[in-house]
Amino acid sequence: MKINYLLLTKLSILLFTYNRIKLVFAILCLFLKFNLYSQDYKFSKSDADAKDLAYYKVVVNTGFEYKVYFDVKNETAAFQAIPHLNKTYKEILKVFKAKENSPKFADVVIVSNKDYKLPVLGNKKWKIQNDDSASLSIKAKDEIYSLMSHEQVHALQNQFGNCNKLPRWFEEGQAMWIEGKTLSYLTPKKWNIRLNNFKQIKEDEESKNKKTTALENWKGVGFSIEAIKKQLTPEGIKYLEKHGVTPPGVTLSFKPSDFKEENHDILSHASKYFKSYMVFNLIEDKIGIKEFIKWNSHVLNKCYSSNEIVNSLKEEYNLDINKELKK
Ligand SMILES: [Zn+2]
Repeated sequence: MKINYLLLTKLSILLFTYNRIKLVFAILCLFLKFNLYSQDYKFSKSDADAKDLAYYKVVVNTGFEYKVYFDVKNETAAFQAIPHLNKTYKEILKVFKAKENSPKFADVVIVSNKDYKLPVLGNKKWKIQNDDSASLSIKAKDEIYSLMSHEQVHALQNQFGNCNKLPRWFEEGQAMWIEGKTLSYLTPKKWNIRLNNFKQIKEDEESKNKKTTALENWKGVGFSIEAIKKQLTPEGIKYLEKHGVTPPGVTLSFKPSDFKEENHDILSHASKYFKSYMVFNLIEDKIGIKEFIKWNSHVLNKCYSSNEIVNSLKEEYNLDINKELKK
């Protein structure tokens, strides 16, 4: 048999080329599937003005946007914070299903000065203090994950339902549960440490207090007026004195020493976060994640009282959490 070497060579080149095309195509598909190169967000910068700091506005393709403010030293840090914020917010939105409009997250402010006071007007803001002037410090990055995975849940609770007020155990349990899901996915070691700290606090509290307020009666705790005022700008203090409440855009953070004398039981307060988290875990465990997410949005839409939540779980899922809320 006569072999046509020319044809064979041509065929080999074609096959080789074809295989190369297949290979290039496969790599391209992998890149597209796993988003290995594409950036799924756009951002634009606005300069500082007399009223506020400069900021990046970030628009994420999956349907949400937010702002990261920064002082002169922290432009790079704010830029580096964007992927971490994106990851955190995407995890939160796996549980909170947006209905119509895109969710409105609270703004994040990255500054060097730990005494920086948040401006009175505008959207709600959370402050992250960054020690490293050249880039985002590990501490600030960790704070983005832990603070934002919890506090942004509170920012969204009244957007995904119609309620301004739900039982405290529900609001905190939900924020803790989503924080747990987000952190155990993004920074599992940190979440384990945090969870163990909470367990310890609960054990300490139980050995110290014979009788504590039941979870269903958990209300806010009081802080001394000085602890509030020192975090406000002069306009903020004026607003507080006129309206009797803190300005809407300002968030505050407190140390144990900031509590009012009569509410000084910080241990009991901290332990309630863990207890409400455990109630949420129990519900997820009993009814399964799919129903659990449905149940979450149902409660957010119905503005249930604590009793109504208990009854709805009994009727819908034959689950009684009454005993847990008496603890
Ligand atoms: Zn909270």
